[in-house]
Amino acid sequence: MSDVHNVIIIGSGPAGLTAAIYASRASLEPLLIEGEPSSTSDQPGGQLMLTTDVENFPGFPDGIMGPELMQNMRQQAERFGTKILTDKVTDVDLTERPFTVRVRDTAYRANAIIVSTGAQSLMLGLEAEDRLIGHGLSTCATCDGFFFRGHDIAVVGGGDSALEEAGFLTKFADKVTVIHRRDELRASKIMQERAFANPKIEFLWDTVVLDIEGEDKVTGMQVKNVKTGVESLLDVTGVFIAIGHRPNTDLFRGKLEMEESGYLVTRGKTSYTDVDGVFACGDVQDHVYRQAITAAGSGCMAAIDAERWLEAQHG
Ligand code: NAP
Repeated sequence: MSDVHNVIIIGSGPAGLTAAIYASRASLEPLLIEGEPSSTSDQPGGQLMLTTDVENFPGFPDGIMGPELMQNMRQQAERFGTKILTDKVTDVDLTERPFTVRVRDTAYRANAIIVSTGAQSLMLGLEAEDRLIGHGLSTCATCDGFFFRGHDIAVVGGGDSALEEAGFLTKFADKVTVIHRRDELRASKIMQERAFANPKIEFLWDTVVLDIEGEDKVTGMQVKNVKTGVESLLDVTGVFIAIGHRPNTDLFRGKLEMEESGYLVTRGKTSYTDVDGVFACGDVQDHVYRQAITAAGSGCMAAIDAERWLEAQHG
């Protein structure tokens, strides 16, 4: 038996696991390297492991918990023969085929690679964030806004994401306070005008977050005005962090074409990267939609692209 895999999938969020389901059902016997549990950027299951209820993934009329959804996808991939390695990829060599994927001292080789390493929301770096994420603290208004009907909540950030999230959240919340560390927004003019005109949005300028309060749910926020030095408690029951995202592409720097922001570039409506035989799917190449269902859809595309590409290579 050859020690060269048909396809190695790197990353195990909805994109990677969907790619694995499709690739294994196409008898490609994929190896999926899922990441390591201790890490937030490489955590098996991806960002859905940090959420609680997922109510917008089709097929679950009563919703499903994020970790359970990922466990289901994992089992589904294994059922069709996906081999899963719980570890972190440390290096890749994409200069010759078969490609090499290194996990410390062990080298795995593959004729095709599917990159689904995802992205992570930038966080403030507070200890409370680990405790409260999914419990009143969120990084995705589309995913979690619905749970804040009638609440007073805060959005942290001053860019387009923050104002977009704030606007969306006013559909549910009674009041949305945007907390920005300066007195001038980074967001585009049109987004600013919309936010200023929204009676449910208030701004706290020149303000940084010192702490988010609450043991098992958000009960308030300690904030500080950086100009006056005055500290105060903001009475909110929900917090959305919207200070940007970072794709997990350090491994591929200089090896795959990426945008300045680090997102991988895929060709047209396909999952093809600029290296033949390497495909990308999910949030690592999508800074627009960032949904579990769109990631899963693009994982399916990557598996089909890889299957057809492999078939064309080997006749
Ligand atoms: P961004 O433009 O980088 O803005 C990040 C914001 O978060 C900035 O206001 C920044 O403050 C603040 N911030 C960063 N680190 C912080 C920290 N540690 N503590 C407190 N505040 C912090 O990111 P984005 O809003 O996610 O947008 C990313 C890109 O996507 C942009 O090009 C944006 O135009 C685009 N986008 C477009 C739309 C749209 O057009 N509908 C929607 C979303 C995103 P400073 O301003 O002080 O640096």
